[in-house]
Amino acid sequence: MTKHVLVLPGDGIGPEIVTEAVKVLGTLNLDIEIDSALIGGAAVDATGNPLPDETLEKARNADAILLGAVGGPKWDGNAMEQRPEKGLLGIRSQLELFANLRPAILYPQLAEASTLKPEVVSGLDILIVRELTGGIYFGQPRGIRTLDNGEREGYNTYVYSESEIRRIGRQAFEAAQKRGKRLCSIDKSNVLEVTVLWKEVMDELAKEYPDVELSHMLVDNAAMQLVRAPKQFDVMVTGNMFGDILSDAAAMLTGSIGMLPSASLDENGKGMYEPCHGSAPDIAGQGKANPLATILSVAMMLRYSLNEIAAADRIEQAVEKVLDQGLRTADIMSEGCKLVSTEEMGAAVVAAL
Ligand code: NAD
Repeated sequence: MTKHVLVLPGDGIGPEIVTEAVKVLGTLNLDIEIDSALIGGAAVDATGNPLPDETLEKARNADAILLGAVGGPKWDGNAMEQRPEKGLLGIRSQLELFANLRPAILYPQLAEASTLKPEVVSGLDILIVRELTGGIYFGQPRGIRTLDNGEREGYNTYVYSESEIRRIGRQAFEAAQKRGKRLCSIDKSNVLEVTVLWKEVMDELAKEYPDVELSHMLVDNAAMQLVRAPKQFDVMVTGNMFGDILSDAAAMLTGSIGMLPSASLDENGKGMYEPCHGSAPDIAGQGKANPLATILSVAMMLRYSLNEIAAADRIEQAVEKVLDQGLRTADIMSEGCKLVSTEEMGAAVVAAL
């Protein structure tokens, strides 16, 4: 049966990296039909809405979605409803893509790209499972209000229901079962009630997954441990905001955010796949962007949503091969390697396939 993939290039380097990823997908000769639509700043410019109805409709009907990135200085002054990021948050919540899986893997070929000592990071392979549709980014009430004394006050609400915690917990326990069977839940239960509940629900769930060893860590310690001894972790699970920050830190352990894919899944395994990085306006349009995170996101898409495991393996092996060949975009460049453009890197992966 033909599978339908919706491509959302977005802004900045988004269109450049997605073009290369789509070429890679096309090389596999799978029964996949590709459509595309607008999101983010590009959609604001064309329709006044960062998530047009047509895009949402196409996304609902697709089997999987591949996104580049959204945002850029052009739209920074826009009202909140007309900000590119609103399109991304909107599609995640509308499709209930509540589970964000972010692997941080250090390819041996890139050991030098990490700012940490090779012995601290070599062989690193961790997975951060971040809750994506709840927590403080979505909690109500929120806003900026003027107090009686005339001073303005900004406020947000950090809220998680038991069912929200349970469903992300299950995804994390199941991911841990497929890996090293260790799960570390990250909270701030010494200060925030919402994460006291988080911790309790994780403990309850642990009884259903006796093969997984559950531990708990406070988020401040987790940030420290991630840079001190990151290999102690297998799978980490945490809420939206802590996950946002910790996964970027984990990304940098590997040397480049340009190498890291991500998956955002709903309860049925339908998902949106995107690189962990943003739209990199500083290098947009210059052919400097590393397309490998997006290409590896295609591999995750084939594995988690399209059930094409062999094709996913082939892409990952092709990426390893181009790294072995010494080809590097600027962000992962090191001595003795060959500097290539976005397009050349994409072409090299296609050739390796
Ligand atoms: P960023 O990830 O876009 O860039 C951070 C740094 O990493 C920049 O120096 C950039 O050049 C570099 N970089 C990122 N991706 C790269 C790649 N593929 N190859 C080579 N270098 C790469 O983060 P930022 O600068 O904080 O944000 C820029 C814009 O992106 C903002 O508008 C922000 O809101 C948006 N953003 C979007 C997403 C998303 O769409 N998922 C995520 C984060 C930020």
